[in-house]
Amino acid sequence: MSSATYLWTPPRTPSAAVRGRAERAPVNRLFFVGRNYHAHAAEMGRPVDKSVEQPFYFTKSPSTLVESGATVPYPPRSSNYHYEMELVVLIGKPGFRVAEAQAHELIHGYACGLDMTRRDLQLAARDKGRPWDTGKDIEHGSVLSEIVPMPGVVIERGAIELRVNGQVRQNSDVDKLIWNIRELIADLSTLYHLQPGDLIYTGTPEGVGPVQPGDRLEGSVAGVGEIALSVGAPE
Ligand code: MN
Repeated sequence: MSSATYLWTPPRTPSAAVRGRAERAPVNRLFFVGRNYHAHAAEMGRPVDKSVEQPFYFTKSPSTLVESGATVPYPPRSSNYHYEMELVVLIGKPGFRVAEAQAHELIHGYACGLDMTRRDLQLAARDKGRPWDTGKDIEHGSVLSEIVPMPGVVIERGAIELRVNGQVRQNSDVDKLIWNIRELIADLSTLYHLQPGDLIYTGTPEGVGPVQPGDRLEGSVAGVGEIALSVGAPE
């Protein structure tokens, strides 16, 4: 394959900065967990009963990744662009049908993430039973901080917060995840052969809301780090 030639320059390999390392982590897939905090599920009008429900997922293209600190354009075809602050897991080892008790072995580290969402398009699709893709898979819509290496560590608690222009909009704790890190890795590995470079955005707490051009978003997960994003004018 090293001798392959291409009709045009191939896209760059999506990757993430890693704290303390010159090397970047190549990114494979972006998985997102839907409705994984009770208070957020309730604010979306779809409460979760864990006794009878399973976690569900959607994906975004790795090309939607954008680094913390970036300024991104307000996206086209939306007038209700939302932030969702999330804890992100980076998978570092392959795994398929992994038991919860072994799930930690797949973890390379963590990051802060923003699952940016065209809420108007997402809800219109949801209510018509259509795919969410145009509401979620948005250019510049998967914001990621540097990866913090924590191999084998299962994060079970830690304040998660998002501020818009200095005002707190989301303030919860990752101990409120409906499906925790072990459960998510085990469950997702029944659907996919997890691979190094897979990222799992674990869901957002309550308090999601719209942004406007000129807004500055700043988020944090205690014990992991911080993330920032500036929203620019529409293109
Ligand atoms: Mn989300």
